[in-house]
Amino acid sequence: MFRKSNEVAIIGAGIIGLLLAKKLAEKGINVEVYDSKKEISDAANKASGILSISGLATIPINYKPAIINMLNGAKIFTKNSLLSIRANDNKAYILDRAKLAEICANEAVESGAKINLNSRLTKLDIEKMQSEYKVLVGADGAVSTVASTFAFPKIDDYILTYKAVFKNVSIKDTKIVEIYFMKNITKKFFGWTAPYSKSKLEVGIGISQKEHRNSFNAFSMFIKNDIIKKKLKNAKMIEGYASLIPINQRKQTVKSNILLVGDSAGQVKATTGGGIIFGSMCADVAANSIFNYIKKGEQLNNYENEWRKKYMKNLRIHNFLHTLYSNLNDDSLSMLVKVSKIFGIEKFLSRYGDMDNPSIMIKKFFFRNK
Ligand SMILES: Cc1cc2nc3c(=O)[nH]c(=O)nc-3n(C[C@H](O)[C@H](O)[C@H](O)COP(=O)(O)OP(=O)(O)OC[C@H]3O[C@@H](n4cnc5c(N)ncnc54)[C@H](O)[C@@H]3O)c2cc1C
Repeated sequence: MFRKSNEVAIIGAGIIGLLLAKKLAEKGINVEVYDSKKEISDAANKASGILSISGLATIPINYKPAIINMLNGAKIFTKNSLLSIRANDNKAYILDRAKLAEICANEAVESGAKINLNSRLTKLDIEKMQSEYKVLVGADGAVSTVASTFAFPKIDDYILTYKAVFKNVSIKDTKIVEIYFMKNITKKFFGWTAPYSKSKLEVGIGISQKEHRNSFNAFSMFIKNDIIKKKLKNAKMIEGYASLIPINQRKQTVKSNILLVGDSAGQVKATTGGGIIFGSMCADVAANSIFNYIKKGEQLNNYENEWRKKYMKNLRIHNFLHTLYSNLNDDSLSMLVKVSKIFGIEKFLSRYGDMDNPSIMIKKFFFRNK
């Protein structure tokens, strides 16, 4: 089944596996990608595509045809408070995830990568591949078979999600994403709405896997809430999917000639569940380390050291903020928002808000008057 001439096998043709394949092929590395999907875009719409424009600038693909909408702000609702952030210019795009997957796949193939769809790999297949390829990459998502086959440390917690799209909605402000903390649904619950157009709205929720609750039930409670019910009056749900997001990084991501990247490594922002920007930056590091391992005999473990050195600081801040707000009760969270408003947080975030790099924002916040 597998060709020995290939240097790298990537399990998973999600966005991160495809971006890594493209980067490796551009470096002249022989790379094959395997995925169980029938079509490259299958299941892509389980996830949202809200990405900062500054983060997207770090991903070298032509994502522009996938843009659905542009955003310049956010409203964050807690039980008794509201935080309003509005920038002068657009800060994020909503991308069509299916289209984005197709763009990444086309660019990977154009660069020389080979993509094998309809290939569901069992633990046995994966073990065999380890000896047949110089490097085996697990880019196989949140529940990684590569990680479990080779007993990588487990991911501590996952967010269970339910995401739906509604049509016939009447949306006044199409440039704002709304985030809701409703701890009466579950303690760690958050919900969001993201407009695709004046009449199409994405509505989603996340809860902690540790809460042992069903994400669709939490979603049903969310859309029955007065504010969301009013938004969705006369609306019709056209698609809905349950999925999950890892929110902690694995403690080890390289073993022998095996490397994990993207969701399988847990390279995700715990605050928003966004995994594309950090996954892509880590795929960059992976491409360099794999190249240096195959062509120059360097350690593959350089990947582990390098991505942690470059990105763990910001990922840790996301982890900390997520733990903080998900463990506060409604009243304490509302109080925190009210106090931060007194300190000018709305104005500050409107001006300097950065969805990806909280460390830069924190520095700017404390040194803004210097
Ligand atoms: C509801 C939701 C909303 C999100 N919103 C955002 C957002 O707004 N912005 C953002 O940046 N991120 C968002 N994310 C996170 C983002 O979708 C992920 O971080 C990103 O898709 C991870 O890509 P990946 O390539 O690592 O994994 P995946 O996209 O999960 O791809 C893994 C691939 O591996 C394949 N696979 C798995 N096991 C096997 C096997 N045994 N054999 C063969 N193939 C296999 C699967 O078929 C799949 O195609 C969201 C996620 C969810 C669930």
